Amino acid sequence: MIDLSQYQSITNYIGGQHLAPRAGNYLHNINPATGERIGTIPASDSADVEDAVAAARQALPHWQHSKPEERFAILNKIADLIDQYQDEFALAETTDNGKPLSLSKRVDIPRASANFRFFATGIMHFSTESHIMEDTAVNYTMRQPIGIVGCISPWNLPLYLFSWKIAPALAAGNCVIAKPSEVTPLTAYLLSHICTEAGLPAGVLNILHGDGPSCGSAIVAHPAIKAISFTGSTRAGQHIASVAAPMFKKLSLELGGKNPNIIFEDCNWDKMMRTTIQSSFANQGQICLCGSRILVQRSVYQKFKEEFVANAAKLTVGDPLLPESKQGAVVSKMHYEKILSCIELAKAEGGNILLGGHAVEVPGRCANGYFIAPTIVEGLGAQCRTNMEEIFGPMVTIQAFDTEAEAIALANCSDYGLASSVWTQDISKANRVAMQIQSGIVWLNCWLLRDLRTPFGGVKNSGVGREGGWDALRFFTEPKNVCLEL
Ligand code: NAD
Repeated sequence: MIDLSQYQSITNYIGGQHLAPRAGNYLHNINPATGERIGTIPASDSADVEDAVAAARQALPHWQHSKPEERFAILNKIADLIDQYQDEFALAETTDNGKPLSLSKRVDIPRASANFRFFATGIMHFSTESHIMEDTAVNYTMRQPIGIVGCISPWNLPLYLFSWKIAPALAAGNCVIAKPSEVTPLTAYLLSHICTEAGLPAGVLNILHGDGPSCGSAIVAHPAIKAISFTGSTRAGQHIASVAAPMFKKLSLELGGKNPNIIFEDCNWDKMMRTTIQSSFANQGQICLCGSRILVQRSVYQKFKEEFVANAAKLTVGDPLLPESKQGAVVSKMHYEKILSCIELAKAEGGNILLGGHAVEVPGRCANGYFIAPTIVEGLGAQCRTNMEEIFGPMVTIQAFDTEAEAIALANCSDYGLASSVWTQDISKANRVAMQIQSGIVWLNCWLLRDLRTPFGGVKNSGVGREGGWDALRFFTEPKNVCLEL
């Protein structure tokens, strides 16, 4: 039985050991719902990355040649243990991130164990191609692990996205150097204890804590780390690409978004309304897939506006530990200030604040927390900064359109192209729009309905590459074609 309730002073996980950072430097970890310090986390740097690489090198010969059955069993055991300790994981996630505990319990933690279970099973079914040249030759393509890979993840869905990278990387037979966000390190730390209990050999997974410039960039720049799977901001992604591309590393970049929701007059209204509240404000709008530009056909614009504002006003902002809280804290003071400055920008650009537009004071233990009211803005043009730049908070804009062509033009009027959702009962229109939208993911009459086998990722400034299913296992393996002349 392990004790996952202690995380005031967390450590790196290198070669199966829990280690302090070499330089002895630490960062503060803050609970965004209370503004209080939870504890300290290692401020790791290139020396710790060097240690992690050494541990991974030692572990690689066994792990890369291990049978899929061995990896399947260990990854499944990790999933079982996450389930077993789901209450501890959920509480840590909420303490770190500020999201409602009900959300951590319902979505984040179950999805993390699902990721491990999915790729544990996936590797048992992963197959390779062969190409026969009639009477001449046989080609078969091997898919070998890359070796040592780096996985870097953000704070918005901490364990969910961390495991979405680590699980396929490990399943494919790689050794991993992983870094969670320094803003939300706790569940990755708890995972390191789980890995030991699950029997993951030492050095196969190494988890380093620290910030982007010192720790993340040392992972990206290390010549022994041959692939980087990164999820985070477009700005950091650009920097990572500029370092990793000249080193010819394999790169998967899942970056920012400014996703459109297109609402036609002929949609299933109640389902659309329910879902649009979710897609706007779930996790305080801090999901890369949230729709932040809501485009509504003019014939139903007024009706939409009134009902949407009324429904969003019912979302209780409060202590994330209370079951009635539908909106928790945003992730940090810095992010809180950024969102508030985006609200000021929207006003300065001429936006009309229909709801929210301010911080919320939550009494009691959360009096110093970072809470923002769900905010809805109208009256802004498609090209203004508020409609072009990612905000990543509980703030959306609404715009009216007349025709299908105009809706598509507005949706595509963005440097981003991650996800979109389209609401109409006309199946032909839905498919026509889906074909023309510039985004990696289109949801028709739904949102965030995820099948883990489907390709996940964006176009334009939302990134390169795809995660999920075979795409992830292909990313974390190197194809080698063998040709035998007959
Ligand atoms: P961020 O880019 O600041 O940080 C993400 C991670 O990268 C963190 O672990 C950070 O420490 C690390 N990092 C930062 N700079 C680095 C550098 N130069 N080298 C190496 N590592 C570096 O992003 P964030 O604020 O943590 O997360 C929010 C962003 O993530 C938003 O833009 C959001 O859209 C995006 N996101 C995208 C997806 C997706 O699937 N496309 C999913 C979730 C979040």
